[in-house]
Amino acid sequence: MLDRLEPQSPDALLALIKLHAADEREDKIDLGVGVYRTDDGATPVFKSIKAAEEALIGEQQSKSYLGPEGDLGFVHSLMPYIFGKDATMGGRIEGMQTPGGTGAVRLAAAVAKHAGATRIHMGTPSWPNHAQIFRDLDLEVAAFDHANADGTANLEAVLEAIRGAGENEAVLLHGCCHNPTGIDYTPAQWVEIAEALAESPALPILDVAYHGLGHGLEQDAYGVRRVLNAVDEALIAYSCDKNFGMYRDRVGALYVMAKNSSGLDPILSNLNALARASWSMPPDHGGAAVRLVLRDDTRRQQWLDELESMRNRLRWVRERLAAADNQVSGLDLAPLAEQNGMFAMLKLDKDQIARLREEHAVYMAGSGRINVAGLTKGNIDKFIAALADVAG
Ligand code: PMP
Repeated sequence: MLDRLEPQSPDALLALIKLHAADEREDKIDLGVGVYRTDDGATPVFKSIKAAEEALIGEQQSKSYLGPEGDLGFVHSLMPYIFGKDATMGGRIEGMQTPGGTGAVRLAAAVAKHAGATRIHMGTPSWPNHAQIFRDLDLEVAAFDHANADGTANLEAVLEAIRGAGENEAVLLHGCCHNPTGIDYTPAQWVEIAEALAESPALPILDVAYHGLGHGLEQDAYGVRRVLNAVDEALIAYSCDKNFGMYRDRVGALYVMAKNSSGLDPILSNLNALARASWSMPPDHGGAAVRLVLRDDTRRQQWLDELESMRNRLRWVRERLAAADNQVSGLDLAPLAEQNGMFAMLKLDKDQIARLREEHAVYMAGSGRINVAGLTKGNIDKFIAALADVAG
C-alpha cells in the first residue's frame, strides 16, 4: 500500500538549513530559519525560563497524565496578557493547551470544520503551514492579497473577503507581527475589520504567534481585543514558542470565545474530543515553565525585560535597514521601519537571492523573506553591501 505514496517535496527552509550548515565561509549569514537571535547570533534559553525550569524540577511531584486540556494554570495565566483586564470577556472565553501554535491552528481549523466550515479566507503570503493545515483538513483556502506594493496592509482586500464570506466560512487573521511580511493592520484598520466581522456570518480565527515582539504586549493585542469586542464568537490560536523562546518544547494554547458563557461547554467538549483523537494531551514541560514564569513576580519581570530587549533589537535592525534605503536601489527598504516582528519580505528575484547565497554567503528563503533577527551589529553592514551589490 505504502508504495502508492507520491514523494513530497522537502520543506524548503529545512533544505536551506542544510546548505547553510555545509557552507564553510566564516562570515556566512543565516536569515532563513524563524528563530530569534541575540546580537551574538545565539538563541539562548530565556533566563526567566531557566529559573522557572529549576523551580519546576524541585516542585514537580508527578508526571501522571493531565488530560487533553493540558495545564490550565498555564492557559489561564496567559489570558490577561492576551485579552486584557476582563480576561474572560464575562465568562465567554476559555482555552486549552496545545502542542505549539501549530497545534492551536490545527485544532482551530478542525473544530471549525466539525462545526460545518468548508472554506477559510486568508491573506497571502502567509505562514506556509496555514494553507497546508487547512488543505489537509479538506478545507478550501480562499486567498486575498495581504499587502500593498508600498509595504502597507491591503485593507480593501481583507474587507472584501470578510464581506463576501458566507455562513460556513472562516476568516484567518494574524494578530500581530505578520509572518512573512511584517505588515500589520493599523489600529484604525482593525476598527474597520472588527466592524466588518461583526456584520459577517464568518468565524474569525486569530493567529497570535509573536505577541510582544512588535510594539509591546498591550499594543500587539489591540487587533485581537478589538475584534473580540465586536463579534459573537472567535477562535484564538496562541504560541509561546517565540515570546518565551520555547520553540522545541512546543508551547501553545487555543482559546475560544463563545456567544455566551453557557455556550462554552459544548465547544470545549468538541475541542477535547478532537485533541484526544490527535495528540491526546499536549507535552507538559514548556507550559508548566511558562506558568511558573507568569506566577512569580521576579521571574515575570525578568521575562518582560527579556521580551523588551528582543523587541528593541528587532526595532534597531529594522531602523538600520530602513536607513540604508538610499544605498540599495530598487528594494524599497524604508517601510521596514514601520513593520513589525521577526520577518520582512525583500523585493528580490530568484537570481538575486541565489547570488546573495553564492557570492555573499547570505542565506534567505526563496520567497525573499528574511529573519530580521539574523542581522547583528557585526554583520548588518556586510548584508547591506551585499544587497547593494545584487540589487545595483
Ligand atoms: N502561526 C504563525 C503565523 C507562525 O509564524 C508560526 C510559527 N512560526 C506558528 C503559527 C506556529 O508556531 P509554533 O512554533 O508554536 O508551532
